[in-house]
Amino acid sequence: MVNKKGEVQCIDDEILEKMNLKTRYNFLNNNLMSILKPRNFNFLRKVEKFFIRFEEKNNITHNEDCYEWIPAIGEEGLVTRINNFTELDLNFEPYGMTAEFMRCLATDFFDPQLTMAMGASILVVNPIMLHHEDIDVRLKALRELVTGKKIGCVCITEPERGSDAVHMLTTCDENEDGSFTLNGEKIYQTNGPKADWAVLYAAKEANNGNTMAQFLIDTSWDGWEVERLNIPWTPRVHIGKETLTNVRVPKEYVLGGPGLGREHLFEGLNLERLGIVILNVSEAWNAISHAAIYVNMRKQFDKEVLKYQGVGFPLAEMWSKTMSLTLATLHICQIIDEKMEQFGTLPKNFNLALVVTASQLKSQSASLTERVCYGCANLMGGAGLCDNTLMQDLLGISRIHQVGGGTDQIQKYIMSLALRQLFKML
Ligand SMILES: Cc1cc2nc3c(=O)[nH]c(=O)nc-3n(C[C@H](O)[C@H](O)[C@H](O)COP(=O)(O)OP(=O)(O)OC[C@H]3O[C@@H](n4cnc5c(N)ncnc54)[C@H](O)[C@@H]3O)c2cc1C
Repeated sequence: MVNKKGEVQCIDDEILEKMNLKTRYNFLNNNLMSILKPRNFNFLRKVEKFFIRFEEKNNITHNEDCYEWIPAIGEEGLVTRINNFTELDLNFEPYGMTAEFMRCLATDFFDPQLTMAMGASILVVNPIMLHHEDIDVRLKALRELVTGKKIGCVCITEPERGSDAVHMLTTCDENEDGSFTLNGEKIYQTNGPKADWAVLYAAKEANNGNTMAQFLIDTSWDGWEVERLNIPWTPRVHIGKETLTNVRVPKEYVLGGPGLGREHLFEGLNLERLGIVILNVSEAWNAISHAAIYVNMRKQFDKEVLKYQGVGFPLAEMWSKTMSLTLATLHICQIIDEKMEQFGTLPKNFNLALVVTASQLKSQSASLTERVCYGCANLMGGAGLCDNTLMQDLLGISRIHQVGGGTDQIQKYIMSLALRQLFKML
């Protein structure tokens, strides 16, 4: 029998039906209702309701081009909730890191690859938010990204400069009228081939981090070329390799001139890494919700397989690790929200301390999601490996988070430097 997606059905009707979005949301809600504040729990449920209706109404199979859904999601104010956008006359409530965590959890249960793609668009929102200086073209880009009308990508990585991101080879030369001319190559940009707007870093002098600058780029400009590269683990996310040949960037689009680029790059990294932490925790819950339903219903040797210790105990172990990391993530989100409410921005010292916390959580959550998604699929036997559920998406996507956003080695390098600093303070 072939289902509406054209896949051969491997999973029993009743179990497959029980792993639907609504029931998986119920599993998540029962886990989180006692630890979330009512305001956050209510928002989580509101986003869940939106996606249940969205999936039903559009008869979604999760094989579609997920980018086509983003405008409708943006109309509901569900592309990002990190910031307060009242200056754009957009009154999205609630907002902040905790609200973003809730938005991401609900979105990930609906479609993990969509969640990753929207996450990369958000990375473009934050730098423009910090540096728009009320300039019309920047506000226009910001509004289009926040409302999901347009897609964004961030261009840091180059073919020859990955982890060593501050020694860029892409150059920017200033022209007499204050515009810049950009030349070089970028690679592995999430959303690159779909992006309307890009935030890109280049250096006045190649290899010199002190001369880095930050630009907002309209990807329809002459000299911008993009090829889609293939990351087989996330087949519906478009990832690009960009070539810039004499791309002229007018003055109004320079978010930070030469000398400011490196600072602007690092100012966004904490939130980028915490965004990946939220994504990782959401994927782990999504996998656990599938597995918990499946092993409670699947019988072998006349017993539900959960009742065998070989299945129940490892699932309990993954569940407790996921819950522990959820509590840690919630805690840091709430501290960030409190600071933002108190000071309107994150104090410099706090942001500095957050560098290590973000690396610690990014490292732990990336390895957690990879282990949990694989472990849950494994406990589901063939049902976890076939294409009838989102488990295949989760298996693939959970394998890339140790690389994107700075590799695991780089996170550990940051932590080891911090251990040295802490020792020197004794
Ligand atoms: C799916 C995906 C999406 C991505 N999205 C984006 C995006 O949107 N925008 C963007 O700009 N980039 C993006 N990236 C790029 C990503 O940030 C880089 O891949 C990453 O920073 C590593 O760079 P690299 O691949 O060149 O590896 P390299 O830097 O060449 O690293 C190779 C190996 O060496 C190790 N290594 C390097 N330096 C050190 C060191 N000092 N100490 C110890 N080990 C070290 C690394 O950990 C790794 O194991 C994405 C990547 C992927 C895979």
